[in-house]
Amino acid sequence: MSENECIFCKIINGNASGNIIYQDDLVTAFRDIHPVAPLHILIVPNKHIASINDLNAEDEILAGRLLITARKLAVEHGVQDTGYRLIVNTGSHGGQVVFHLHIHLIGGQKMRFPMG
Ligand code: AMP
Repeated sequence: MSENECIFCKIINGNASGNIIYQDDLVTAFRDIHPVAPLHILIVPNKHIASINDLNAEDEILAGRLLITARKLAVEHGVQDTGYRLIVNTGSHGGQVVFHLHIHLIGGQKMRFPMG
């Protein structure tokens, strides 16, 4: 999928509606449109990277920013003590549907380890 057609690129650039809750020079975070838990936020790189498979050594600062942002948002949304889950689905077997790298931040309820 090209950058022009990517729904997450459109949200980041303001060309599609998205419930953006955080944005800086490297990353954007917005609410998942189909939340699976009371808290479900997606943290994405501003530049189009299809998946973890496409991360390069030059993306080291960006990769760190994604994780640090997930941690900050967990604190801001009050789930740091109860706990939360960060998920990065990758490729077909990983269940990735949108091919713009994203971290799911999911919390607000007790979860079991999902398989299948
Ligand atoms: P994944 O299976 O990891 O690729 O998950 C993609 C996620 O993106 C799903 O949880 C979808 O609900 C979510 N999603 C798809 N389109 C949108 C959108 N326009 N705005 C917000 N979240 C979306």
